[in-house]
Amino acid sequence: MAKITLQDLRHSYRGNPRNDDDWALKRLTLEWRDGGAYALLGPSGCGKTTLLNIISGLIRPSEGRILFDGIDVTDATPELRNIAQVFQFPVVYDTLTVYDNLAFPLRNRGVGEAEVDRIVRQIAAMLDLESTLTQRASGLSADGKQKISLGRGLVRSDVNVIMFDEPLTVIDPHLKWQLRSKLKELHHRIGRTMIYVTHDQTEALTFADEVTVMKDGMIVQTGTPVDLFERPRHVFVGHFIGSPGMNVLRCEVKGGKALVAGQPVESVNAGRYRGAGAGLQLGVRPEFVKFASDGIAVDVVKVADAGRHRIVETRLGDEVVNMLQPEDEAVPQGRAHLRFDPAHTQIYEDGWIVD
Ligand code: ATP
Repeated sequence: MAKITLQDLRHSYRGNPRNDDDWALKRLTLEWRDGGAYALLGPSGCGKTTLLNIISGLIRPSEGRILFDGIDVTDATPELRNIAQVFQFPVVYDTLTVYDNLAFPLRNRGVGEAEVDRIVRQIAAMLDLESTLTQRASGLSADGKQKISLGRGLVRSDVNVIMFDEPLTVIDPHLKWQLRSKLKELHHRIGRTMIYVTHDQTEALTFADEVTVMKDGMIVQTGTPVDLFERPRHVFVGHFIGSPGMNVLRCEVKGGKALVAGQPVESVNAGRYRGAGAGLQLGVRPEFVKFASDGIAVDVVKVADAGRHRIVETRLGDEVVNMLQPEDEAVPQGRAHLRFDPAHTQIYEDGWIVD
């Protein structure tokens, strides 16, 4: 296992990058501790696969270095980096049994048969594959095959890191949560450094202790799931994480106080704002908005049932303010007033939180 350091990485697929858009990865520095569970989260095209390929050695970065435990591996081959990868589509030998598929990486490294048997049975038990060990892999369903792929990554004790690239894509929706919790459990039991790449916030937030959110080839925030939820450093993170995402409203700050549609709103950080007032926004998650007897005047326009709570859509002029209302509380009709929880209301300038 290894600590992984990405130092000042940049990558362009163009021979002669001139402007910002020519870089698939803009400058990026990151450290993943030994044994941690990490996720890279971002929309399609933000650079996740490029970064993964740089770490595994399939792409040499245009600039910057990759270190494993402080040793520069920027020019090392994928084999030398000793990484296990689990891809979107299961990589299994269809004609071999489940047992032989799991044993393959170990036999390949000359591990003795008694040890192979011990490890294969241990990993098969963790993945609930014991009853299928003698079956051919070809007979298994997509999730069974993906479990084999996971198992082939997990059997090796010599890998520096296990990387998962959207591993649940081909899994039936009702089985996804099972595999997701299985992965989390496996990380606890095995304690290897694991990096999970996905565009799905639920997968990232349930698997990882620390999530890195990417956008347009840049890291916008690295933090625990709670950090990303409670204190998004950029409005993009607020929007991308949460369902519905954070409300982002135009605002002003005067004398250290925020105003939305001319009405005062308390926030965590308006008092720290020292700028000229351009490009200011207020962010508050639907979870931290409540109906009140006075406050921001809005119109209730839509109510949607979402299990134990309702998602209420309100309008403030041309802007939408969503809120979550417990199922057993009444939703006013027409004109209503909102109050934002001051401890979870933040001001952003040009998209970034005011510090
Ligand atoms: P997805 O989830 O769709 O795979 P991603 O977040 O993994 O997206 P990348 O595939 O790394 O993103 O792509 C980042 C940027 O680099 C995109 O603008 C993409 O068009 C570009 N890109 C990726 N691979 C190549 C390539 N081989 N040649 C040229 N441009 C590429």
